[in-house]
Amino acid sequence: MEMTKMNVGALRKALDRREISAVELATYYLDRIAQLDPQLKAFITVPRAEVLQMAAAADRRIATQEDVTALTGIPVAIKDNICTEGIRTTCASRLLADFYPIYDATVVAKLKQAGAVLLGKTNLDEFAMGSTTKESFYGLTRNPWDRQRVAGGSSGGSAVAVAAGMAPLALGSDTGGSIRQPAAFCGVWGLKPTYGRVSRYGLVPYAPSFDQIGPMARSGWDLFLLFRGIAGYDPLDPTSLPASVEAEGDLSGSIRGLRVGLPREFFGAGLDGRIKERVLAVAKVLAEAGCELMELSLPSMAYALPAYYLLAYAEASSSMARYDGVRYGIREGAEQGIVGMMTATRQSLGLEVKRRILLGTYFLSADCYEECYQQAQKVRTWMKQDFAAAYSRCDLLLTPTTAAPAFRIEGEAEDEPVLALTEQYTVAANLTGNPALSFPCGWINHLPVGAQLMGPAGTDELLLRVAAVYTENAPGEAVPERTARDVGEQIEV
Ligand code: GLN
Repeated sequence: MEMTKMNVGALRKALDRREISAVELATYYLDRIAQLDPQLKAFITVPRAEVLQMAAAADRRIATQEDVTALTGIPVAIKDNICTEGIRTTCASRLLADFYPIYDATVVAKLKQAGAVLLGKTNLDEFAMGSTTKESFYGLTRNPWDRQRVAGGSSGGSAVAVAAGMAPLALGSDTGGSIRQPAAFCGVWGLKPTYGRVSRYGLVPYAPSFDQIGPMARSGWDLFLLFRGIAGYDPLDPTSLPASVEAEGDLSGSIRGLRVGLPREFFGAGLDGRIKERVLAVAKVLAEAGCELMELSLPSMAYALPAYYLLAYAEASSSMARYDGVRYGIREGAEQGIVGMMTATRQSLGLEVKRRILLGTYFLSADCYEECYQQAQKVRTWMKQDFAAAYSRCDLLLTPTTAAPAFRIEGEAEDEPVLALTEQYTVAANLTGNPALSFPCGWINHLPVGAQLMGPAGTDELLLRVAAVYTENAPGEAVPERTARDVGEQIEV
């Protein structure tokens, strides 16, 4: 059985018909990780014994057919900034090298309850601060389609795990594009849910007013199953939305009559012309399926990136205060007194993280508060209004996810403008709190390209439905033809 080619629905059937056991499935993925991951470095921790125990428990559930859910026995990889009880959670930082949480994040508890098998903890930029997965203390993650290129980030490990068939499903986190950008670079699906639909309890905070956990998968349907497994109100998260996830069933319903907006600011200078072509091809397929296309403008986008970074760094400086060697973090320099110890402990943070703490502290200082922080908050409010006005004219927005395909690991400097533009495309959804989905829409020189759909709060399922209709009707060459198996063949082991 070619398990990397099977979607979650097919795996479910095979498990329920006892054609495979959950232990066999987990073993298959563990072996595949052992084979491919030394080169790709998508995982930081793979607790083999615990994985097999969880799989055995799933098999017992399946044997009695009691309490079997869509995810029972299905392996899911977890980004390593999501707390897992008793399993090391490093945030890709040296500082948390021996942090074993004493509780599960709500999303993890939900997956365990559903009988899913937690496969391991995936690589990221330290504390999710970055866009490449190069800023990991545990080594950089490589793009499976070209190992000289970045996987994207910060959920690069989760994207690569799914793309290379080392996991059928993965969780990422998205503060300013960290699920969608690596999903686009690696040719998989990734959803940044509406803020508050997925509990943040147990997600190590970077910028809590933006952070959101979301699913990554190889198809829209798989993504939907994982989303359904993790979404819902959680009293442990004060920002959790009361509405429960009602959507059930099919993603393939008609999308006739939907108005899809193409915002000018996402198709201007700096965008790779070939990506533009691919995204316009998506628009064409949607139009053929009965959608009405319209051009529009979102003037607030000009300020999106500076507002995002200002607010995200400010929040990060406060989120990071807890790593003092007393409550969390490896304790260093204990012999030097309290200040010496805190200083020594915080020295073990990476440069990028330190830079953000310093800048964020400055943005919140009396010197800068009004001019920087408050201005950025005003931009955020304006963006919410600007997008709400757009959504009074159209139902959804279609844009590229990134301005270029995955760039080379070496040579970041020349990619900086492209990276900035890419971040601009993704941060809008975090600033407004609205959902955004990245899905594969073609290839450029053997590298995958992603399109992004955004909508007003609560339209997460609608975005998935529209993208699923595109995928069903897309011309053959647009959908990822190459499979995870090809990745395995391409990598000499
Ligand atoms: N690249 C963005 C940043 O560094 C996004 C990170 C994220 O979404 N976690 O802040």
